[in-house]
Amino acid sequence: HQALVWVRRDLRADDHAALHHALRAARRVHVAFVFDSTLLEPLRAAGIRADRRVEFIRDSLVDLDAQLRALGLSHGVEGCGLTVLHGDPVERIPALARALDVQAVYAAHDDEPLALARDARVRGALADAGIALHTMKDHVVFERAEVMTAAGTPYGVFTPYKNAWLRKIDPFFLRAWPVARHAAALAPRPTALPQALTGLAPGAEAVPALEAIGFERSNLHTLRLPTGSRGADELLDEFLDRIDAYGEARDFPAIKGPSYLSTHLRFGTLSIRRCAREAWQRAQAGSRGAEVWLSELIWRDFYHQVLHHHPRVAAHAFRPEYDTIAWEHGAAADRLFAAWAEGRTGYPLVDAAMLQLLQTGYMHNRLRMVSASFLTKDLGIDWRRGEAWFARHLNDFDLAANNGGWQWAASSGCDAQPYFRIFNPVSQSLKFDAQGRFIRRYLPQLAALNDRLIHAPWQASPLELQAAGITLGQDYPRPVVEHDQARERTLQRYAVVKSRA
Ligand code: FAD
Repeated sequence: HQALVWVRRDLRADDHAALHHALRAARRVHVAFVFDSTLLEPLRAAGIRADRRVEFIRDSLVDLDAQLRALGLSHGVEGCGLTVLHGDPVERIPALARALDVQAVYAAHDDEPLALARDARVRGALADAGIALHTMKDHVVFERAEVMTAAGTPYGVFTPYKNAWLRKIDPFFLRAWPVARHAAALAPRPTALPQALTGLAPGAEAVPALEAIGFERSNLHTLRLPTGSRGADELLDEFLDRIDAYGEARDFPAIKGPSYLSTHLRFGTLSIRRCAREAWQRAQAGSRGAEVWLSELIWRDFYHQVLHHHPRVAAHAFRPEYDTIAWEHGAAADRLFAAWAEGRTGYPLVDAAMLQLLQTGYMHNRLRMVSASFLTKDLGIDWRRGEAWFARHLNDFDLAANNGGWQWAASSGCDAQPYFRIFNPVSQSLKFDAQGRFIRRYLPQLAALNDRLIHAPWQASPLELQAAGITLGQDYPRPVVEHDQARERTLQRYAVVKSRA
């Protein structure tokens, strides 16, 4: 019995559900990844050559390939590693499974609507060849309908969901899926697969260079985001040393408060069970920071189950009445959207946040909330446009979490911010970046303003601006909207929700 493990969002070789199950069931196990041309071609068609995520995946595959080789060698099997393909997985995976003569393909669940549709087609094509597709949970602690209310309905409010999650959790659900002890079943990587099968020009390296799939290097390696599960281990170890302070430190973008693990959790270079186990054990031992961090990991599960039970949220408000809101559109709205996207709103905290996103692909959670609120409630622009911008630029882009975050900020989601709670971008700035350290990092042209004016440069007198060497409208924009007026307009815009609710 031979099997193929198809890795997607689980780019690691330890605590790996699909690999564990395949190694236990089969005598020989191959491991493959497909650079999905149906996702990459649209990027190329849009003129994008450098994409941090494509590079993150590619470099993480190099790490995974090395780990598989080492695992095989530890059992005396030479030449193990990853088979990398480029093309449409709906064709490539069944073709590879046939070429390798396997009886089953193993993969982890991916519950995004497009991924489910893809997997259904792969399942059909495999079935035609008499090959089974076994899929299983790996990406979250509790998935789909595992945590439900006593009435058997999905939770729509976070706190009761979290309490039910915490009641259910025990070491059984957090145990690792061991790989090393069964690794003798790993098969050597097939050599000389035809180009028609791999979609790649034949080369000596197991993992193709970025250029081979039509991409170039980005600035990924200048960022503090080491790739692969080795990179994830480094970040996790470093974070666990300061997890006790997470509760206090996490809200201030200028300091190292959060874990910066989201991209690793997105691509599965780190196991969610391991993170949750580390947090849960420390929380049990009394660490308040670990308790708060565990709660964030539960938000992650929460949004995944929302997407599972309500796939329509991918395009619609969770609460249907919010789909009747009349958002701004037309040329003026397009100009405001561009100002927001490019960090030119004249509100320094929002602009610094948007520049952080463009320059690094990361944005601090507090700033995601502030900038999403600004787009929807100060500029009156549809949350879906912001969601798409984040999806394009976030290294950690995840449909469930991004959609949940946007619908929270737009008040249209389940358990969202009430619509009449509107972040004031200046108060948020004064509260969470009091000394303007984060703002100065991304907007050096404002650096000479004092700690009061840096949050609202338009409040500076001509003399103060001159002393700081700033000409408003030239070195830095004037505010594109006036917050108090925008707030009034938003309350009117959202009134339609009240009348329909
Ligand atoms: P930490 O604070 O260290 O949190 C640990 C982990 O918990 C994160 O890595 C993440 O996996 C999970 N997590 C934390 N907060 C949330 C949350 N609110 N919802 C779901 N999971 C959470 N997170 C993404 O992973 N991908 C996204 O595309 C995404 N888009 C967002 C969009 C908006 C508008 C908002 C408000 C939030 C979004 N988030 C998203 C959630 C959160 O901002 C990021 O997970 C977090 O900033 C990542 O940094 P970290 O790993 O240092 O987080």
